[in-house]
Amino acid sequence: MNELTGKTALVTGGSRGIGRAICLELAARGANVALCYAGGEAAAAETARLCEERGVKALAIRCDVSDGAQVKAMVDETVRAFGSLDILVNNAGITRDGLAVMMSEENFDAVIATNLRGAFLCMKAAARPMMKKRWGRMVNLSSVVGLHGNAGQVNYAASKAGVIGMTKSMAKELAARNVTVNAVAPGFIDTDMTAVLPEAAKAALLGSIPLGRMGKPEDVARAVAFLCSDDAAYITGQVLSVDGGMN
Ligand code: NDP
Repeated sequence: MNELTGKTALVTGGSRGIGRAICLELAARGANVALCYAGGEAAAAETARLCEERGVKALAIRCDVSDGAQVKAMVDETVRAFGSLDILVNNAGITRDGLAVMMSEENFDAVIATNLRGAFLCMKAAARPMMKKRWGRMVNLSSVVGLHGNAGQVNYAASKAGVIGMTKSMAKELAARNVTVNAVAPGFIDTDMTAVLPEAAKAALLGSIPLGRMGKPEDVARAVAFLCSDDAAYITGQVLSVDGGMN
C-alpha cells in the first residue's frame, strides 16, 4: 500500500506544468486526484488519464478558482466522487507582467484574483471536510518572487507574498483540527509560465542559480508530496523554498 492510499487530493491548475507534476506524484503515492483547469480541457483530461495509469481514480473539473460558487461546486463534486477531501494543493496561477508605472488596474486585479483570492476561496471551501475528518493537508504555491520581489511583477509578488500570509494564518486557525497548511516557494521552473520570458532574462536568471539549472516541475512536486505525507505531520505554517539555492 502506498502512503497516500485512501486519500483524496484536489490540485488546482492541474492541467499542465507544476500542477500536472503534482497530480502525478500524488497519484503515484496512491491518492485519488481531482484537478481543475481554467480552459485547457484536453490537457486536463490527459493529466487525469496519466493519474489513472498510476492505478488511482482521477477527475478533471473546469473551475475558475477566483469564482466562489465554482470553487464550492468543485469541492462538493470532489467529495461526492471520492468520498472525502484530504489534500488541497493551491497551484493555479497566472502572470500579467509589466512595470508598475505602466501596469493597468485590470492586470493588477486579475493576478490577485486568481493567485490570492483563488487560494483563499479554495482553502475556505476545503477546510470544512478536513476539519470534520480531523486530518488535512493544504499546500499553497508561493514563489521566490513573493519572498524577495521582482521588477515587473508587483502584482504577482503581492499575490505570492499574500499567499504566505494566508498560509501562516490558516495554519494557526486549523492546527487544532490536525490540518496542516504550508507553502512551497519555487524558483525558476521550466514550464509554459517561464517559456515566454525573453532569452536574456532566462540567461540572467540561470546565472543566479547556484545549482546551475532550471528546476523541473517534478522537483517542486516531490516537495509538495512530502508536505502532504505523514512524515510532515509536525510541520505547519512554513515556507519551503525549492529554488536551486537562488536565495
Ligand atoms: P502554468 O502557466 O504552466 O500553468 C498554470 C495552471 O493554472 C494551468 O493548469 C491553468 O489552467 C491554471 N489556471 C490559471 N488560471 C486559472 C484559474 N483562474 N482557475 C483555475 N485554473 C487556472 O504555470 P506553472 O506550472 O509554471 O506554475 C504553477 C504555480 O507555480 C503557479 O501558482 C505559479 O505562480 C507558481 N510558480 C511557478 C514558477 C515557475 O518558474 N514556473 C516559479 C514560482 C512559482 P489552463 O491549462 O486551463 O489554462
